[in-house]
Amino acid sequence: MLSNLPIKRIPLPTPFPVGDVNAYLIISDPLTIIDPGLYYQPAEDFLNRSLKESGLELKDIKRIVITHGHPDHYGIAGKIQREAGSEVLVRDSEVEKLELTPGYIENMLKTMLTTGITREALKMDGLYRGEVPFTHPIDSIKTYSGDCLLGFDGFELRLLHTPGHSGGHTSLFWEDKGVLFSGDMLLPKITAITLIDYDPRKKNLRGRSLAHMLKSMELVGNINPSLCLPGHGDPVSEPSALARSRIEFHKGRLEEIYNIVPAGRESAAAPYSLSRVYYPHVKGFDIFLAVVEVVSHLDYLADEGRIEEYIDEKGVSRFYRRQH
Ligand SMILES: [Zn+2]
Repeated sequence: MLSNLPIKRIPLPTPFPVGDVNAYLIISDPLTIIDPGLYYQPAEDFLNRSLKESGLELKDIKRIVITHGHPDHYGIAGKIQREAGSEVLVRDSEVEKLELTPGYIENMLKTMLTTGITREALKMDGLYRGEVPFTHPIDSIKTYSGDCLLGFDGFELRLLHTPGHSGGHTSLFWEDKGVLFSGDMLLPKITAITLIDYDPRKKNLRGRSLAHMLKSMELVGNINPSLCLPGHGDPVSEPSALARSRIEFHKGRLEEIYNIVPAGRESAAAPYSLSRVYYPHVKGFDIFLAVVEVVSHLDYLADEGRIEEYIDEKGVSRFYRRQH
């Protein structure tokens, strides 16, 4: 239990470089789990053991809240639902990531290709077929929108929309206790990546993940929690200070990326080639993460009017600095 609260942190193994993912069990009525982890046998075994320690079983879980649609956070949710009949809750703007409809996959692919990355470099052919390893299908998902309340026996948690890492990312805030469950928005050891999201309102199709992330960090400062329970890593005792340091980090990175944008329209470069300049040594999946990081900062700089963007004949964004 965490500091006399009915919360149990369960660090579940993953086979990924990120290491464990934290599930949080809220031992109240209804028994609720936040981010139950991957559909992965070592994680399932660990979850079962942790529940048993508290005199509980998988079938006692009445409600599953998913902070965002990445497999390490939700993979097993569908299996728990099948065994326990649990309600699975996801923000409406995040549900496509779990359902992976052909339309969603096509839009995401189209959006990623606007960075100039090639299909081959993406190495996501499985995803295009709707295959996500370590996930179990979810039979029924209940959605919500806005900042609504989640009721327990004698208290409530607020479901806060905190986009940036993912467009429909949710953090849960227990206001009376000052406890924030931050998912992957605010992490102690690493800066959460500002991933690409599809936004048809933008001419380059990309949601403004860095602008969203900075707003989410400001929100942490405004609500000023005393404890943050992140999706990966140990609890954070000064969340506002950490959020402030993340804002400073991105400001520094914005300047570094500004400095590699070529001057003059004739030299304009695609985000993918700039990511190869900024991160010359990355390989494999990190090539994708590098372009995601760079493009979110380029979009921010362009929205601020510091750099220019045009879309070339192939639908790829090209950025340049104006020459004076
Ligand atoms: Zn994530």
